[in-house]
Amino acid sequence: MQTGTSTVTLDETTRRLLIETVARRVIDHAEELTALDQAIGDGDHGLNMKRGFEAVLADLDAHAARPLPEALKAIGMALVMKVGGASGPLYGTLFMTLGKELPVDPSIADMARALGAAVEAVKARGKSDVGQKTMLDVLAPVRDALAADRDPRAAAAKAAEATVPMKAIRGRASFLGDRSIGHMDPGARSSSLIVAAIVDVMERRA
Ligand code: ADP
Ligand code: MG
Repeated sequence: MQTGTSTVTLDETTRRLLIETVARRVIDHAEELTALDQAIGDGDHGLNMKRGFEAVLADLDAHAARPLPEALKAIGMALVMKVGGASGPLYGTLFMTLGKELPVDPSIADMARALGAAVEAVKARGKSDVGQKTMLDVLAPVRDALAADRDPRAAAAKAAEATVPMKAIRGRASFLGDRSIGHMDPGARSSSLIVAAIVDVMERRA
């Protein structure tokens, strides 16, 4: 992946590969996400995310044809409409905010800034914060990694693992209180899958 302030041009082929790889990665892990949500939630996170990203794949040509900011906004709208649950509006907010904040050809610095804005938007939407055992506990460390030119994929994996000993304060898992301790948060895992898929594509084309 490129570093610092040098920008990357995402042509249509790359945008297509990014969108398709992210969507397939989430869909391929639906059972794992379901199992995680069965442990501390209602067991629908895998199906919710699968439904959302299948809708994204169904419009792959249209999404890939759009410039990056417009593609991200359209994907965010699709996720809001199709994912459902608590995570649908939150993932929708994430992608739509990235679309609003990112330029057509972003640098790593742009990505760090845009993800920072998206993290704040998700916090506002979820009335939640970092440290409450949610997707924010992956997204915020990934933002920090981007800002420090560290590997965002490694940061995401480590941060998802770090939700295991946490006690849930927000979302359905919070109903379990101390019994939410000892399981990875499903939304943290889906966020780390998405980050890993993006980095995998960017690495291959570097
Ligand atoms: P639901 O909880 O409605 O069944 P999902 O199972 O699809 O929805 O999504 C659950 C995930 O959503 C959680 O693992 C958590 O990461 C995330 N989440 C839930 N509520 C919030 C919130 N208020 N703020 C941030 N993330 C949240
Ligand atoms: Mg659920």
